[in-house]
Amino acid sequence: MIAEGRAQCPCCDYYTLRDRGGNEVCPVCYWEDDGADLEALDEVSPANHITLRSARKNFERLGASDQAAVSLVASAEERDGLRREQRATYF
Ligand SMILES: [Zn+2]
Repeated sequence: MIAEGRAQCPCCDYYTLRDRGGNEVCPVCYWEDDGADLEALDEVSPANHITLRSARKNFERLGASDQAAVSLVASAEERDGLRREQRATYF
């Protein structure tokens, strides 16, 4: 079970971060929170080397922000019960 944070991960939309923009790595999707959010979907994140839009698509498809993180992320059981407010970005 992952500890719930006060802040929402910009990639997977789970509440996993203590705060926003603190370069915390989300245990659910492995996105490093460099402060960017939906307003910067198509900018390449310096910390993650991909755009947030790509990372969000990866999470929906693979359960991780990036192919390389698939083996590192929390299992479905581990993230079970964790608060998530899914935000639509498919436009
Ligand atoms: Zn995340």
